[in-house]
Amino acid sequence: MMILDTPIESLPATSPLTIKRLKLIGIETYCDLLNYFPYRYEDYSIISPIMSIQEGETVTIRGTVIKSTNEYTKRGYKLQKITLQDKTGSLQITWINQPYLAHIFKTGVTLSVSGLVTRFAGKLTLQPNGWEIIKDESMHTGRIIPVYSEIHGLSTKTLREKVFHVISHLKNTQEPPESLPTEVLIYNNLISFHEAYIEVHYPSSKERLKQARLRLGFNEMLILQLSLLLKKHEQKQKKVMYQFSLDDIEKKQKIKNFIERLPFKLTNGQKEAIYDIEQDLKKQNPMNRFLQGDVGSGKTVVAALAAYITYLNGYQTLIMAPTEILADQHYQTMLRLFKETSVKIAIQTGSKKNLKKDSSNFDIIVGTQALLTKSLIFNKVGFIVIDEQHRFGVAQRALLKEKGGEPHLLTMTATPIPRTLALTLYGEIDLTVISEMPQGRLPVKTYLVPSKKRQKAYEWIKNKILTDRCQTFIVCPLIEESKEETKISVKAAKKEYERLQKNVFPTLRVALLHGKLKSKEKTEIMQEFTRKKYDILVSTSVVEVGIDIPDATIMIIEGAEKYGLAQLHQLRGRIGRGNRQSYCYLFSDNQEPAVLHRLNFFSSTTNGAELSEYDLHHRGPGNIFGTNQHGYLKLKIASLSDISLIKQSKNAADYLIKKSPDLKLFPKLLSSLNSNQPQTHLGKSSTI
Ligand code: ADP
Ligand code: MG
Repeated sequence: MMILDTPIESLPATSPLTIKRLKLIGIETYCDLLNYFPYRYEDYSIISPIMSIQEGETVTIRGTVIKSTNEYTKRGYKLQKITLQDKTGSLQITWINQPYLAHIFKTGVTLSVSGLVTRFAGKLTLQPNGWEIIKDESMHTGRIIPVYSEIHGLSTKTLREKVFHVISHLKNTQEPPESLPTEVLIYNNLISFHEAYIEVHYPSSKERLKQARLRLGFNEMLILQLSLLLKKHEQKQKKVMYQFSLDDIEKKQKIKNFIERLPFKLTNGQKEAIYDIEQDLKKQNPMNRFLQGDVGSGKTVVAALAAYITYLNGYQTLIMAPTEILADQHYQTMLRLFKETSVKIAIQTGSKKNLKKDSSNFDIIVGTQALLTKSLIFNKVGFIVIDEQHRFGVAQRALLKEKGGEPHLLTMTATPIPRTLALTLYGEIDLTVISEMPQGRLPVKTYLVPSKKRQKAYEWIKNKILTDRCQTFIVCPLIEESKEETKISVKAAKKEYERLQKNVFPTLRVALLHGKLKSKEKTEIMQEFTRKKYDILVSTSVVEVGIDIPDATIMIIEGAEKYGLAQLHQLRGRIGRGNRQSYCYLFSDNQEPAVLHRLNFFSSTTNGAELSEYDLHHRGPGNIFGTNQHGYLKLKIASLSDISLIKQSKNAADYLIKKSPDLKLFPKLLSSLNSNQPQTHLGKSSTI
């Protein structure tokens, strides 16, 4: 048996309570303990001589306690004062209101304290933030020590002791066994698995720690890459239920006519996307394509064309959108685009239900989550479109796919994800990017408005609306982190709506839209806004996605600092969709330099990819993907913003798969793949 398989019950001097607590966080064996990585380190390897410390430095000192008292002040504070002495001098350090410390800091003990050096009553002292009684020299001193997250009453000290025990057993073994072939280690300049695990918990130097984290991060990312590659392979093995053919002349003519009837010329980006999709639809294995195009780049018509091809082959298309408003808009768009054809279109949402049970009368069915209702049966679905896919959970996507056997799948999003990252996260998917906008679009002019210019901005907007007959969105601040709309945000939006109508724009027609309205009301308001019955639409942030109102050319975003750049970009994408100049005003009371920098950066560019790179760098990947994708983000050591690590591990994954397509040659990798398979785009392999 390997040492790593030892159950934690075998740990020496460990109370049943500690065992219980360890189990609560999923630690059952020595191996689990080893995989509980420190979240930071304390560098005790550099210990300052007391003589040398200077005001303003953060230092660690170590010495013997030569005096220890517990004093009471007149104001009722309890002060624990000690004097610590090393070879070079001594220092008094004070803790406040922690009388139990007096029992621990007995004279004669060796103590290590870290903190900020300050001056009090003319003398240097230390504001202590961490301390350690030194008992076991090799565990706690003279080195970089690990700090673990403290959870369920497990202290970092306890964890350190337990991990130390495991590490000391591993030192003379080859555990954990190496999972990578030597050439991959050498090529990528990686240390062995065994060394990495030891060094990550008890680094012998900063340099070694860096190597250890690199190695473990590499493995983590590699496992992610491998599972995506295997999934892609699996995907390519699948066979569609309904085979399309596109080559007969009649179909080709009909598609040509459809394109000619469009009110605009397709952009090159749209043509290329359609070409990619056509190639996929001809194949026997189902398409799994990700269509990424900035807001307003015209993804809908691409989906419509693919739906038409599906129809010409005699099969149905499902189009799923994240909100009723958007589903309704797509429904209207499809009705318009297919007016001259005999395509029959249905809508299925919470409030509008064209379908009972049987859907066979319809060729295109547009809807929301309502499409997932168990009782609905689809029997000839050839193609599924999921719009603004980042809004849907993994499970929902998988479920929708199940509804249709093995149909072709197109997912669309405007959230620009840096390409390398997209290929990693959606590695099992083919990617098409529409990178150009329809002609004649003018970039939205964006301004960050200081509070004192708010009134002026309102005046300007009023004039603009009256002279140009354009329309305005006013978006209320995001109140909660979650995407769900809360009562508070609805209330705030109502208040803002009243204030604007009464005090700011009394002569204009203002409407209010929020998620708590009945969906019939929502659709009505949207339609009336489209028909220009209102000049201004005040809304909460939930209505951000996908709406298309070409005459809206002004947007105010309140509390702009609360949004990530990707979200702001989505919001701003609601304007600038026609050929007129559009304007976006960001209002924010937050004056922090980082916030101003971010919002100014947003004002300086309309390029979605640049914005997402910025977010990725400054705020990490969580922001780009939102809460739905957090499954990807459970990486313990590797970071999704480490592009070179992503590339390196991708290369290694390609190499390994090439050597052994089923990974049988690398049993250790295979077993870690099976034991912690990351969640990917469509859920675990078994569900698709
Ligand atoms: P998104 O990619 O954000 O979903 P839409 O599909 O909603 O964008 O298209 C945005 C607007 O651009 C729509 O009003 C649509 O009719 C229009 N549009 C789409 N393609 C073109 C084009 N090639 N030329 C001009 N306008 C277009
Ligand atoms: Mg769209």
